[in-house]
Amino acid sequence: MYLRHSENYTLKITFLGTGTSQGVPIIGCQCYVCQSIDHKDKRLRTSLLIETETTTVVIDSGPDFRQQLLRANLCKLDGLVFTHSHKDHLAGMDDIRAFNYLQKKPVEVYATEFTQQVIKKEFEYIFSNSSYPGVPQINLNTIDKEKEFIIGDIHIQPIEVMHYKMPVLGFRINNFTYITDANHIEDAEMNKIMGTKYLVLNALRKEAHISHFTLDEAIQISAKLAPDLTYLTHISHQLGLHQDVQNELPFGIQLAYDTLSFEI
Ligand SMILES: [Zn+2]
Ligand SMILES: [Zn+2]
Ligand SMILES: [Zn+2]
Repeated sequence: MYLRHSENYTLKITFLGTGTSQGVPIIGCQCYVCQSIDHKDKRLRTSLLIETETTTVVIDSGPDFRQQLLRANLCKLDGLVFTHSHKDHLAGMDDIRAFNYLQKKPVEVYATEFTQQVIKKEFEYIFSNSSYPGVPQINLNTIDKEKEFIIGDIHIQPIEVMHYKMPVLGFRINNFTYITDANHIEDAEMNKIMGTKYLVLNALRKEAHISHFTLDEAIQISAKLAPDLTYLTHISHQLGLHQDVQNELPFGIQLAYDTLSFEI
């Protein structure tokens, strides 16, 4: 059983992005969700910021990474953690260069062996011997899915979930658990999440999807785990207007939106 608690330990969670791989609105889409003027219907690609008094961690750096960090006014980064290697979670990593200049050292990146292989392929120029000046400086740290890892004062327990056939990492920090890009969670991994008070889960749309939980499936998982509060993320324009969907949700479940922030 995972237990870690200390008094006076505040985690600040901020949703940097809550949209699926194309974001919302989608380029060129004329649907009523993409045309909505509600700021909660504007979703950058899925990413999360976790802060304590001394430590700043971001989960995933998708194509909107630069814009998200500017919007959050982020001035330091102690760790960039990857859930998996899909482009909508990885494509923006080049912009960690800003922290190389600010902090005058490499950025610590945390990923599984498999995700690191993709990083080395897709950002080959970072690892090349003939790299030109100004390329991102990173230190790769390997996540063992069975082992807690520590960034500053943040203790992170990996949770393996399935994204169709691809293993993806979710993360538990104290009473908070973050899971995106899943459509299945094995019982042993569910046990690692049990007791969490704040849960983030992906919910793509209402219709079935091969690699993502639907809204109903996410609601069922939330009911099993019974946290105090569940936030849904990685949302498609097909799910509907934020306000309409929010009004239909059971008590204790909320649609996340970009810039939503809370403290634990
Ligand atoms: Zn994704
Ligand atoms: Zn649309
Ligand atoms: Zn994915």
